[in-house]
Amino acid sequence: STMPPLLSAIANAGRHGVLAKSAVVMERLGQVDTVALDKTGTLTEGTPRVTDIIPLPGGGLDENALLHLAASAEHSSEHPLARAVVRAARERGLTPAEASGFTSTPGSGVTATIGGHAVRAGAPARLAAAGDADLDDAVTSLENGGRTAVLIMRDDLPVGVLGVADRLRTDAKATVAALTELTGRPPVLLTGDNERAARHLAAEVGITRIRAGLLPQDKVAAVREWEAEGRRVLVVGDGVNDAPALAAAHTGIAMGKAGSDLALETADAVVVRDELATIPAVVALSRQARRLVV
Ligand code: ADP
Ligand code: MG
Repeated sequence: STMPPLLSAIANAGRHGVLAKSAVVMERLGQVDTVALDKTGTLTEGTPRVTDIIPLPGGGLDENALLHLAASAEHSSEHPLARAVVRAARERGLTPAEASGFTSTPGSGVTATIGGHAVRAGAPARLAAAGDADLDDAVTSLENGGRTAVLIMRDDLPVGVLGVADRLRTDAKATVAALTELTGRPPVLLTGDNERAARHLAAEVGITRIRAGLLPQDKVAAVREWEAEGRRVLVVGDGVNDAPALAAAHTGIAMGKAGSDLALETADAVVVRDELATIPAVVALSRQARRLVV
C-alpha cells in the first residue's frame, strides 16, 4: 500500500483491537521504555465478585442488612467494586434503597445518605483509623487471601466489611513477559488497592515492583518521577482514578470494555478488543512503522 507507515500502523493496530487516536500516538507507543499497569480492571478482568459478608459486632446488622446498606450506598458508582456489591445484593433479592447526597472519591470510596444515616463504603485504610480489633482482624484476613476489603460505615461507626475478589486476566502473565521483553524492564503495578492484595496478585504474573494504596494524584507523581529520570512511560488503566496518570504519561492506554468514560476520553489509545495482549502487539507495530518512517 502507499499509505504512510504510521497510518498503516493505525489500521493494523485497529485490526489487533487497539484504537490509536492519532499518528502521533502511534509513533509514541514505540518510544515507551517503562510500563505502569493498573490492577483492578486492567490486570484483572474487572468483574469482581463479593466473596465474604462480615457484619461487625456493635453494628447490629445481619448479612443481608449489611449487603443492602452497602448496595444502597454504591448504587450510583460505576466502580467495579460498587458493581460487584450491587450485583451480590440483587442475587439475594435485595433492591438498593433510595439514597441522597451521593459523592464518590476516586481511589477511596463513596458516601451517601440513606434513611437519615450517613453511610460510607470504601477502602478501610481511608475510612477508619486502625485500632478496632474486630475490624482489623476481618480486613487483614481478607487481604492476606488476596481480596479487597470494602468497609461499610454508618454514622461514623464501622458496621461491616465485604470481601471482594477478581480474577486475573488469562493473558496477564504472557503480557507482562512480552512487555518485559520489549522494554527491557518488567512493568510496575500502580494500584489504589491495598499492598497485601496487590502483592498476592503481582506474584502470580511475575511483577516485582508495586506501588499500592495510591490516590489518583499519587499515580501521576510516580509517572512524573520516572519521566524526570528520562523515561518514557506507558500507563495502562481503566478507571476514573487512572485518568490523571493516563494524561500525564508519555502515552496512556485505556481498557475499553470496563473503562470509565473519563479514562476512554483521556487516553491516547483504547483497547477495544478486551485483551491485554493487544498492548505489546501495538508497541511492536509502532516500532516497525517508525523504522519505515526514519
Ligand atoms: P485500582 O487502582 O486497583 O483500580 P482504585 O484506585 O479504583 O483501584 O480504588 C482504590 C481503592 O479504593 C479500592 O481498592 C477500594 O478499596 C477503594 N474504592 C474506590 N472506589 C470504591 C467504591 N466505589 N466502593 C468501594 N471501595 C472503593
Ligand atoms: Mg482500575
